[in-house]
Amino acid sequence: MAKQAQLHCSFCGRSRDEVKILIAGQEGHICENCVEHAQEIIVQELNLKNEAGVGGNSNFKLSVRRPAEIKKFLDEYVIGQDDAKKVLSVAVYNHFKRIVQKVQPDDIEIEKSNIIMVGETGTGKTLLAKSIARLLNVPFAIVDATVFTEAGYVGEDVESMLTRLLQNCNYDVASAERGIVYVDEIDKIARKGDNPSITRDVSGEGVQQGLLKMLEGTEVLVPPQGGRKHPEQKMIKVDTKNILFICGGAFDGIDKVIARRINTNAIGFSVNKDEQEHQRKNLLQFINATDLKSFGLIPELLGRLPVVTHLNPLDKETLRSILTKPKNALMKQYTRLFELEGIALTIDEAVLDFMVDKALEYKLGARGLRSICESILTDAMFELPGTETTVLNITLDYAESMFSKSKLSVLKVA
Ligand code: ADP
Repeated sequence: MAKQAQLHCSFCGRSRDEVKILIAGQEGHICENCVEHAQEIIVQELNLKNEAGVGGNSNFKLSVRRPAEIKKFLDEYVIGQDDAKKVLSVAVYNHFKRIVQKVQPDDIEIEKSNIIMVGETGTGKTLLAKSIARLLNVPFAIVDATVFTEAGYVGEDVESMLTRLLQNCNYDVASAERGIVYVDEIDKIARKGDNPSITRDVSGEGVQQGLLKMLEGTEVLVPPQGGRKHPEQKMIKVDTKNILFICGGAFDGIDKVIARRINTNAIGFSVNKDEQEHQRKNLLQFINATDLKSFGLIPELLGRLPVVTHLNPLDKETLRSILTKPKNALMKQYTRLFELEGIALTIDEAVLDFMVDKALEYKLGARGLRSICESILTDAMFELPGTETTVLNITLDYAESMFSKSKLSVLKVA
């Protein structure tokens, strides 16, 4: 015992009692704190080498595609949303053109084309951003704007969104600096009100202010493990000049703002529900930066998000296509799952309509389609493996009975 108490870390000098783990070497010891520090130094050193072009072994090779090619690729994964696809394709193309161009001293500088997408939740905003990153083969991170707060308050610093990007490319700084960050729920950091109050708006306007520099392009010191920055932490320097920021949000109620601006009557006067939905859909296509400003995004932030686009709400036809058409459509996935068990799965057309109707009825949107499929197919997926069955046909009767047994059916909204 007495001998063990004398052991200490040969790097920081802490004794055995002051550390959790002490690893023995041939002539000394190292504690867990020093191991961590050493790891951070290694990551930084390797990144410096990568930046200098020494030993750079980046997995992310930039591949630039023409807008029409980008849109065609998106069509394989995302149903509908043609406007958004077109706008995104052009913005992304220009962005990458800007990165690869060799800048001469007196050259025209092409500005960054950060994007803001407005559309109800579950309409494919994240899917679009993800698909683009997949096509371009650049590091991609999805972050949620609601977790950030102004420096000095409980929450995360905005810089930590770059931590995710770094983590996703194994701390390869050079690749991260050409990556794409998707900032979800950007509407949730809208300014809370116009009148200055005694309480600071630390998760709203404060965060918007924090985002400004980063969106425009600056050197940011990023905490390697995310969270809040603290003085003793080693930081990784990341230049955001070539990082594309795509922001997305539902902006609930923005239709009324648009209606007011374009001087038409707001939704609500029509008795017919379908008609109301149709109007809402039509209004969103007129969205511009003024509406977003009225909603509570500060003009400086909007100035750094020059491309505004919208996504349409999903109608019956689109939901039906989402089930079967995309490259990794739900139905294709389930068919493959059964195929792996040696079972040929067929689903009656009426069942697909039934699923879509339930998704609309329960207001579950595209995300709900999956839970509906699960509720119908779980019993079969539980019982059939290991049996002699080689064919499974899902009929409407079967689907209805399985669905009514499931917990989902209790969710019904009035
Ligand atoms: P959000 O707009 O809230 O970011 P997501 O992109 O995360 O929505 O969509 C949720 C899921 O719904 C996706 O993973 C995808 O399976 C499906 N989905 C939504 N919209 C579409 C669409 N237009 N085409 C294909 N699938 C879609």
